[in-house]
Order: sequence, then structure tokens, then C-alpha cells
Amino acid sequence: MINSSRFSRRPGVGSRINVSFEFFPPKTDDMAARLWETVKRLEPLDPAFVSVTYGAGGSTRERTARTIARMLSETRLTPAAHMTCVDASRDEVDTVVGEFIRLGVRRFVALRGDPAAGVGAAYRPHPNGYANGAELTAALAKAGARDISVSAYPEKHPESPDFATDFDMLKRKVDNGATRAITQFFFDNDDYERYVERARRAGIFIPIVPGILPVHNFTQVANFAGRCGAHVPAWVAERFDGLTKDPQTHALVAAAVAAEQVLDLIERGVGDFHFYTMNRADLAFAICHMIGIRPAQATETTPAAA
Ligand code: FAD
Repeated sequence: MINSSRFSRRPGVGSRINVSFEFFPPKTDDMAARLWETVKRLEPLDPAFVSVTYGAGGSTRERTARTIARMLSETRLTPAAHMTCVDASRDEVDTVVGEFIRLGVRRFVALRGDPAAGVGAAYRPHPNGYANGAELTAALAKAGARDISVSAYPEKHPESPDFATDFDMLKRKVDNGATRAITQFFFDNDDYERYVERARRAGIFIPIVPGILPVHNFTQVANFAGRCGAHVPAWVAERFDGLTKDPQTHALVAAAVAAEQVLDLIERGVGDFHFYTMNRADLAFAICHMIGIRPAQATETTPAAA
């Protein structure tokens, strides 16, 4: 039987849902044009913050900084800079962090990053570098960051022998100044709920914000998931089956899958969401609409809602 209350749910008065959006720095002029269209469309939704990724080894250093500088000067958004420490000395990381601080950035997402050889290759910290996300978190706090997000893995980090090792690392990050964890994307909300419960039992009490990946391209997501330790349940694969050459239906299904996931998380009491936008607005915008997050000036009363 369909649980109609679940599907008719709209956040009530006082149950404000907060969203944040993640972007990556564009490589080409065309990609930049798409990013700024996306930013302009999502800005009126008044996200708590937006974040801009940072290529492991500093490969996007200038582009990340340029993107954030433009956000600061041309929008009302609060940008957070992702920072990684793989393949960089402490001095190099500290220099880049200092540049962000001088730009006016106080929010960061602290990450270790993956080895240059790719996810799954053996990780070796730089001999003079920060060894992991926890050490980087401490450095960011020392440099003046006021809001530091870190990673969390509802299905365990692929390099980690067990969940206990992951929770030890997350606890170290909290002790070093992390104020929020953002999860790797996942599709099974039970995995997330179990993870949060275990984190609380491990004495970790910062918000653990679900990272939601609207599926713009199922084939790519399935490949990427395999590499980063996220599993794609059979029911998700089934929904996208046969849609490789049907982008319109794919987009409709993607919006439905993500909205269903988010609405179920709201039912479970979740109030903050981080969207991996892939620099595209439509799915994130549609899902936000469904959970009651709309541009301020666009409020209108429809006959059904009157
Ligand atoms: P850490 O937290 O340092 O480690 C992750 C886990 O791996 C630990 O919990 C620990 O249990 C285990 N582990 C670590 N080292 C070892 C070891 N030597 N032996 C055994 N176990 C170990 N990548 C980018 O390059 N740029 C980005 O902008 C970026 N943004 C991201 C944003 C979010 C929200 C998330 C979830 C991930 C992001 N990533 C990004 C990917 C991230 O860099 C990778 O997942 C990377 O493999 C781990 O980084 P971390 O900060 O989680 O590592």
C-alpha cells in the first residue's frame, strides 16, 4: 500500500530545510558559462553555503580560487573552499589556505584527496605533508577557518579496514575542529541512518549531512560508485535501465529517484542536504522545489495548494 502521507509531505512551518550545493571549477569557457548559469539559477534558493572542489595535488588551485573569488564578488553566496593535502607539503597547503583566507574565505571542506594514480592506488602521504583529513582540519582551524566540513562514508571508506577505523578518523577530525561532516553519496537511506547512529554511539555529535547525487548520467555514476565504495542498489539500476539514449526520461527518473530519497530522509528527521550538482541546476532545483525550497519571489498559490 502506498504511504500517501510520505509522498504528500511538505515541510511545515518551523521545519526549515537547509541545503548546500557543490560545484567543481570549470576547465573551459563553455564549462564556465554552464557553471555561472547554474549558480545564478540556484542562488535565489538561498543555500546555507556553496562549495567548490579542489583537485588532488593542487591541480585546480587557480581555477578553484578564481571561481570562489567570483562568487564572493558577484553573488550573495557563502562559498566554502575544498582543500586536499595529497601530494603537497605542509608549506604548499598552508600557502594556498592563506590565499583563500586573504580572499575572505572562512569556510572549508577538508579532505585528504586520492592518490594521483587514482582511487584504489596505495596512498602515501607526502613526507612533509598533512597525512590525512584530520591533520588538515587542525591546520585549517589554526589558519583561521571558522567552519570546517569533513568527509563521512556511510558505506565505509574503501581503504578503511572497518567502520571503527573510519569513526576513529572522524572523531579525530571533530577533536581538531571539524564542525560538520558531509557524506559520500549513497542511495540506501538505511545505510545513512545506521551510520549516523553508530557515529553518535562513538561520541561524534557534529551534523552529518547527507550528500545527495542527482543522477545526471547513470552509466557514469555506476562506474564512479564502484571506485569510491558506494553501492548502487539493484532497484536504482532497474529504474535507469534502458534510458541511456533517452535523456528526457532519464532526467525525469533522476528527479524522481533523488526526490524520493530526500523526502524519505526528511521523514527520518533529516533537515540539511548537500547536493553534488555536477554544475547543473535542473535536478537540484526541482528537488529543492519539491521540499519547499523556492526562490523568494516565486511564491504563488496554486488552486491545489489554496
Ligand atoms: P581521510 O578522512 O583522511 O581518510 C578516509 C578514511 O580512510 C579514514 O576514515 C580512514 O579510515 C581510512 N584511511 C585513510 N588513510 C588510511 C590508511 N593509510 N590506512 C588505512 N585506512 C586509511 N577529493 C578531491 O580530490 N577533491 C575534492 O574537492 C573532494 N571533495 C570531496 C567532498 C566530499 C563531501 C567527500 C565525501 C569526498 C570528497 N573528495 C574530494 C574525495 C576524497 O578526497 C576521497 O574520498 C579520499 O579517498 C579520502 O579523503 P578523506 O578526506 O575522506 O580522507
